[in-house]
Amino acid sequence: MTLKYFIKTFGCQQNKADSERVAAAFEARGMKPAKGYSDADYIVVNTCMVRQSAEDRVYGLVRNLGKIKEKKPRLKIIVTGCMVGVAFRDKTGKILQKLKERMPQVDEFMPIEEVGFDNEPVRVSKTHAWIPISNGCNNFCTFCVVPFTRGREISRPFEDIINEAKKLKEQGYKEVTLLGQNVNSYGADLILGEKNVQVMRDLDKVYFESHSVNTRHSASFPYKLNGKNLKPIYVKHLGRYRIPTLFPYLLEEVAKLGFEKVDFISSNPWDFSDELIDVIAKYQNITRTIHLPVQSGDDNVLRRMNRWYTASEYLNLIEKIKKKVSGVKFTTDIIVGFCGETDKEFENTVKLCKKVGFEKAYIAMYSPRPMTAATKVMKDDVPYQVKKNRWQILENLINQPKLKKN
Ligand code: SF4
Repeated sequence: MTLKYFIKTFGCQQNKADSERVAAAFEARGMKPAKGYSDADYIVVNTCMVRQSAEDRVYGLVRNLGKIKEKKPRLKIIVTGCMVGVAFRDKTGKILQKLKERMPQVDEFMPIEEVGFDNEPVRVSKTHAWIPISNGCNNFCTFCVVPFTRGREISRPFEDIINEAKKLKEQGYKEVTLLGQNVNSYGADLILGEKNVQVMRDLDKVYFESHSVNTRHSASFPYKLNGKNLKPIYVKHLGRYRIPTLFPYLLEEVAKLGFEKVDFISSNPWDFSDELIDVIAKYQNITRTIHLPVQSGDDNVLRRMNRWYTASEYLNLIEKIKKKVSGVKFTTDIIVGFCGETDKEFENTVKLCKKVGFEKAYIAMYSPRPMTAATKVMKDDVPYQVKKNRWQILENLINQPKLKKN
């Protein structure tokens, strides 16, 4: 008898891409996809915890799956994704314990890292493919749980990504999307030395300023990629130089393969480099709709969020991209009602939105997430109704074209 699996995915594109790899792992074991929950022998719930409501949906689903399991005891329920990521990173073990108590129906809590990249993903679309380029995040925005759900940023090897893209091109895929929590910092943990040896390094300012041979790094100096010397970049919020993001090089190599469209999600404003803008401008098949999360248009809120740019730096970046990339449009993420957000601070967000003219915005009302700095040291003090009003104002301004015109 052929066993069947069913995967329910909550959350972002990264989770969707992860689910395609989970499916690959099941198929490698000879299993086939089920049509639905009741048809399956294994059900995987790939979870999201960007907001409390996303978590609550998982609890509700697992409760209902428990009813199927009562009738079909051999059914295995596996939970993976962000909720499990946080639980396994919590050294106290309390979060995992809580998950077990709230979801006794679950047979296994599986960290998504266990799936790996060994098997070719079972892709949902035959024309568009997700290509994860990195996992995790080092930025620790104070509202965001991702550094705790996915851990520190780890870049996939450059060659592996290019090989995956080449294969997709051969298979006839028309569009690809490069995925990472912050694609711009792709490769900050990678250095390709003279022999293309990949090593983990943490470069310091002194090394690049002096260009003296530093025993720690001499083995792979100078840093080159495809014969190009890599210029160091200064990372304001880290207070030091690091190797430049390799993302422009990666994006260029993928664009050159000739897909109809190459997209990337998500970018942070603080390391959207000039090189990256040049590459986008050079290749017409790279997206002209850039997702650039701003989160707030107020400098004080941005500081509380640990976002390392000001509203004017964000606007300058937008102008710089507009000048070089004709026809470019922008989408964004915004949080309203973040801890302590005053009417005036919110007004600054409205002003910024009017200046940019976003094509679309994913607007969220702030909700505290476990383990984050905002939850630990700030107060979720903006009343729900105020958050809702602010959400509606931005929704009308950006996402409701009819209202936008009036
Ligand atoms: S919001 Fe900040 S912490 Fe969260 S994934 Fe994006 S850059 Fe990382």
